[in-house]
Amino acid sequence: MSPSFSSLNLVLLGPPGSGRSTQASLLAERYQIPHISTGDMLRDEIQRSSARGSEVEEVFNRGELVNDAVVAGMVLQRLDAEDCVRGFVLDGFPRNAKQATILDGVLAELGRSIERVFLLELGDQEIVNRHANRPLRREDDREEALRERLRVFHLEAPALIDHYRNRGQLVCVDAARSVDKVSDDLRQAIETPVGA
Ligand code: AMP
Repeated sequence: MSPSFSSLNLVLLGPPGSGRSTQASLLAERYQIPHISTGDMLRDEIQRSSARGSEVEEVFNRGELVNDAVVAGMVLQRLDAEDCVRGFVLDGFPRNAKQATILDGVLAELGRSIERVFLLELGDQEIVNRHANRPLRREDDREEALRERLRVFHLEAPALIDHYRNRGQLVCVDAARSVDKVSDDLRQAIETPVGA
């Protein structure tokens, strides 16, 4: 890990299909910090048919956003776990400005802050093309659900992106390149001191 961080708290933003989850797991492995994916946590709750899973299943399958309070509660509980002390990489949370404000409040209470917020940028057409070339793996992978997820992303993303851009925390990365190239950019941005 870069010596300038006592803990490495990272956030990855980006539309569905931008490689967010792949990049988050690479970062988690490289810096030995937990990969916290709200999509995976919700998928797990649905598979286990937990009370929370049953509550969110329909909304999830349609590609809409699950209730802010439900997701925020889940994340906050996770961030409080022992293995997050050295840092974490958040993938899929926050999804809107309200969630970003909730996250700020919690981190402030814990006396922590975010080191970098990455935005993986990829156009809708490229996302739809990539999607058409892979097998259906999950219910929310259906083309209709993907379109809904893209619509929701474009609705919520501007305020979310502004939230972090206004604080000078946002790093935009061109996600139309190979996994390795994108991952190199992320590593460089993390290991280069801000303002250098
Ligand atoms: P993802 O795997 O991150 O693309 O998320 C899959 C689905 O989980 C989304 O389409 C939403 O239905 C739900 N979800 C994931 N993260 C959030 C979040 N932060 N807020 C609300 N819903 C979420």
